[in-house]
Amino acid sequence: MKILNYDIHLDIDFAGKKYSGTENIKIEKPDKKLELDINEIDIKGVKINGMDAVFSVSNTQLVVDNDSSDVIDLSIEFYTYNDPGLKGFYVAGDANKYILSTQFEESDARRAFPCFDNPLYKATFDLEVKIDKDLQAISNMPIKHEKIEANKKIVTFERTPVMSTYLLYIGIGHFDEMSTMYRNKRFYYAAMDGRLSKSSYPLDIAKKSVEYLENYTNIEYMLPKLHLIAVPEFAAGAMENWGAITFREILLNMDASSSSKSYRRSAEVITHELVHQWFGDLVTMKWWNDLWLNESFATFFAFKTVDAVEPSWNFFGDFLLDQTDGAYTMDSIINSHPINAEVSDPMGVSKLSYEIRYGKGSNVLRMIEAYTGNDVFMTGLRNYLKKFSYSNAEGSDLWNSIEEVSKKGISEIMNEWISKKGYPLLMAKKTDNGLLLTQEKFNLHGNEHEEWKIPLFINRFSGEQKILMEGKDLKLDGDIISLNKMHFGFYRVYYDNELFNNIIKNLDKISVFEKWGIINDMYALFLAGRMELTEFMRRMETFYKINEPVIIEEISKELYNLFIISQNIYFKDIVNFYIKDKIEYIEKNKSDDFNYKTVLSNLYSRLAYINSDFASKLVKKYSSFELVNPDERQAYLISRAVTGSDFSYFRDIIENSKSDEDKTKAIMACGILSENEDHDQIIDFIKSGRVKKQDADSFFTSMATYPESREFIVNNLETIVDLLFNIRVSNLRINRCVQTMISYGGLADPEKIKKDAEKIRRDEIEGGINKGLEFLEIFENAIKASN
Ligand SMILES: [Zn+2]
Repeated sequence: MKILNYDIHLDIDFAGKKYSGTENIKIEKPDKKLELDINEIDIKGVKINGMDAVFSVSNTQLVVDNDSSDVIDLSIEFYTYNDPGLKGFYVAGDANKYILSTQFEESDARRAFPCFDNPLYKATFDLEVKIDKDLQAISNMPIKHEKIEANKKIVTFERTPVMSTYLLYIGIGHFDEMSTMYRNKRFYYAAMDGRLSKSSYPLDIAKKSVEYLENYTNIEYMLPKLHLIAVPEFAAGAMENWGAITFREILLNMDASSSSKSYRRSAEVITHELVHQWFGDLVTMKWWNDLWLNESFATFFAFKTVDAVEPSWNFFGDFLLDQTDGAYTMDSIINSHPINAEVSDPMGVSKLSYEIRYGKGSNVLRMIEAYTGNDVFMTGLRNYLKKFSYSNAEGSDLWNSIEEVSKKGISEIMNEWISKKGYPLLMAKKTDNGLLLTQEKFNLHGNEHEEWKIPLFINRFSGEQKILMEGKDLKLDGDIISLNKMHFGFYRVYYDNELFNNIIKNLDKISVFEKWGIINDMYALFLAGRMELTEFMRRMETFYKINEPVIIEEISKELYNLFIISQNIYFKDIVNFYIKDKIEYIEKNKSDDFNYKTVLSNLYSRLAYINSDFASKLVKKYSSFELVNPDERQAYLISRAVTGSDFSYFRDIIENSKSDEDKTKAIMACGILSENEDHDQIIDFIKSGRVKKQDADSFFTSMATYPESREFIVNNLETIVDLLFNIRVSNLRINRCVQTMISYGGLADPEKIKKDAEKIRRDEIEGGINKGLEFLEIFENAIKASN
């Protein structure tokens, strides 16, 4: 069976937030039983080639009997109402002001219209919407024509290329737009009216990135136009609908209140979605078990692209701090899963870890690129994209394509890395004429065993050496400095004392990225109970003098986290000293350097929490919040909470600020509020609907992180989880929130939270609960090791 075309007409009652529709699906070689996916859609009638057809409807399927084997026209009349939460065709905004917008990945196109909601069934789409005359409509393709009928407007869009159902986009509302030309195509930045910022930053980034990607892939951007759309309520961060990419407002609406961190984050996410126009939209995975391939590629290539178009940003430093660190952490527990975890139904995707599918996958791709060489990797990729354009592929198709060019056994290496959970720890011991490497699986918790074929990037005095480690042990001879040059390899190393001392002697011959890895490894080895506190601190101190932003961020984050977890005054004193020293250095020497701004902003925030003198000074420095420098705003709000402002102060910002970034910063600071009254008001505030649904869980994530509110989290776990489900926060976000509430929040009373975790247990948050319980134990062990 082949789906050729969907011809969809939607009659939209914008004020009533509902619509009815008709569609005609053209199918070649149709099955005898046509099984269409539906979810909360009512079916009025079904015809095949104009004749009434026999059909039955269940909760999830519309089944139509068919006895034709030629091309058929399957016509369906249906209607639906718009309250699915932040998915399907949904209301994005509040009761007074909203747009209607779609979010179909992974399996919610079926909430908007009956369809074969499977990425493999690619088809063309003809879309037509009937809307109020004064409204606008945006879709994947440009508008073909508009026709006015009484007080209604019929908008017809041009036909799409063949594509998967989950990539269709429909947006209805009052929009403000700005646009620019890229070659002969128009690129738009759109937002709900009154919400468009004046900055053309998103379009500037988009143009540069598209140009880079066109050159890299050797394939021109395929659609006649591109929309970047800021959506007022959005469960995920962004979505790569072909030619009509949607984002949280915070990622596009850049203005004078935006911090340097948000500019970097915006560039990363815009580029990530643009990469998908090639990897994902043009070439799509056959089934959701290869979703990681889309996401890993988009993640890796977003960094690669931004690194190329903004070379001074040192963007792979952000990659290590974010993607590599996240993947290392999440992939070292028993409750991790392989990159290509089995997904039997699309709903199952939300059970998997973002840090594995995006983070680990992108790290493995970076490792393979470094192993094969950039040109070989690019050629393999170009061949793959060309071969599978407007079609579907599996991971193995890509490895085969790279292998054909590289002749390096890539398939075998990749298969190991994507099908085994975890990653290697290399134990490195000095020998008479070199060193001995022994690999094992790195565990933060538990005791699992595994072995990999590992591409090694050895840093020698004589230059870089790339070899493949096979088997448990490997002897290396000669002039070795360190074992993961540029931190290309996704593995940790535990150097024995002699080797570590040699590293310290030769620090100037080691890249910043590799230094980052060495520091990150030490922290993990301490958390895992493999390195004693004294040894960890002794090694750590040798890096205090380094003033690279990536290193300052890593060290201050580690020490700060150890204090947050343990509340041990020992760490507080050290991190206080370290951060003050680095702030002084940056303010004196690097205050205008863009790469230091984000780090400085984080240092201020951490210091504001641990040092009340600093907090008091910061509060006094500004007469009102609006005057605070964007890079100091998080620290300022934390300082407010530390120095006694109550919830009303933060509520005012959350309700009235035009900037989503300021709102989320205020929500973060609420975690520090310790009074019962504040906590009750926060719950009431969320229930009142005056905070975006997409942000509701952030209150609790923050409350769990800060020791002041942990007890509240422990005592109200069930209530909070019910609340999040009631307001229909996405499962992915609830999972993350639950994980943090159990792991960090649980530190206030581990025994109680372990019991209560069983009371909230249900299928949708199984992953979050299990991971939370496991990290709680890891933290408890680390606390014991710190005393
Ligand atoms: Zn993505």
